Order: sequence, then structure tokens, then C-alpha cells
Amino acid sequence: MIKYRLCCKNCKLIFDSWFATSKEYDKLKKKKLLNCHSCNSLKVEKTLMAPKLINNKFKNNSQKKLQKLKKTMKKYQNFIKKNFDFVGENFSQEARSIHYNDVKKKKGIYGTASKKDLKELREEGIETQIIPWIEDKNN
Ligand SMILES: [Zn+2]
Repeated sequence: MIKYRLCCKNCKLIFDSWFATSKEYDKLKKKKLLNCHSCNSLKVEKTLMAPKLINNKFKNNSQKKLQKLKKTMKKYQNFIKKNFDFVGENFSQEARSIHYNDVKKKKGIYGTASKKDLKELREEGIETQIIPWIEDKNN
């Protein structure tokens, strides 16, 4: 696959288009099958930007891996959500209160903390674990 940045000479729209090969671009251009997305003008030209190439095999592989990883992380996250209480940015505060007040909680806690917070907690002998997290909006 090859990506060209195309420019419409009529309305000045610039858009990206994918072609199987560079020859396909020439073929479509000759057959007047290349038109502007906005005004349908046939005065569409390739801009001088270097074309971007994508190796399909590589792309598919890495996407599959990413999907698999996301699935695993989702499972992990669901487990944590079920078994831990979310305390958000109060994490270090909550962790301290559990540690110092010997609070017996049924559930563990999870939340966010800065690197500085984590360092301080560690110095106070409070164990924490850092876990990678995917926000739901990334799906
Ligand atoms: Zn146009």
C-alpha cells in the first residue's frame, strides 16, 4: 500500500489517499477516476510529500498483538475493579491510613499516585505495586 497526499487545484483541499501501488495512482488519474472529496473536481494532483509505505504483514501482526495485550489487561483490570476499592487520587492518603491505623479492609485499594508519593510510601514501609492501566476511552 502507498499513501499519497493529494491536493485539489480547484478548492485547495488536501487529503490523503491510499493506493495499491504507485501505478494505480497513474491509472486512476488517466481514467479520470480521481476526484476531490469535497468538490468532485478532477484537478487533483499528487503533492510532493514523500509517500508513506506500510508493510501490511507487520501492521496486522502488531495490531493482533496489541489486541491480545489489551484483552489481557482488560481482564486484569476487571479483576482489580471487582476486588479492590478505587480511591482515585487519594491513594497515598488511604494507603497511609490503612498502614498506620491498622484498618482492616476487606478489599485492597487502587488509585493514582505521583512518583514522589510512591517514593514516600516506600520509605515509610508501605508496599505498593505499579500496574499498567488502559483507560476505557482507548477502546
Ligand atoms: Zn476540490
